[in-house]
Amino acid sequence: MAGNFECTQCGLCCLGINSIVKMDRQLSRFGFVVKNDIVREIHQVLITPEYRELFESDHSVQEQNPSACYFVRKRADGKYVCTIHPYRLTICESYHCCSARISRDGSEVGKIKGKFSLVTKDDSLISLWHQKIMTEQDPSRSFIEKTLAESGYSILFYDGE
Ligand code: SF4
Ligand code: SF4
Repeated sequence: MAGNFECTQCGLCCLGINSIVKMDRQLSRFGFVVKNDIVREIHQVLITPEYRELFESDHSVQEQNPSACYFVRKRADGKYVCTIHPYRLTICESYHCCSARISRDGSEVGKIKGKFSLVTKDDSLISLWHQKIMTEQDPSRSFIEKTLAESGYSILFYDGE
């Protein structure tokens, strides 16, 4: 199955990025300049109204993750949010953390990075991946889908990845 990349807001990609995505200066209470130091991209940004209270009142993400982006916050439902989402830098907008997600019984159990790098804590899936899929020369999407399905897993490939 194929679809468009969907971010699950796990926050991982925003928790270790503050050496690249940097708050450069504050212009007003909710106005900032953010920059990507590597490619020298600079944006003037505003904290979005829906997250202003959270932005000002909760710095627990940064306290627990010293490398976290200045603008990420954790909502009460456990999802991480970008408080400058409409204005974010290209690196943030174009970032896709995986090329496919693997599920079992409706829950995500693993993901694929790049073409064939499996990221999972599911030992059965690791064995299956290495013994039945990675033993093929260049396994096709349909072969991977079929092999996983035989063991109760489903995979969603993202288009263009
Ligand atoms: S892009 Fe990936 S790592 Fe980043 S928050 Fe979304 S799901 Fe998590
Ligand atoms: S600007 Fe937003 S998307 Fe980019 S790293 Fe920071 S919180 Fe994450």
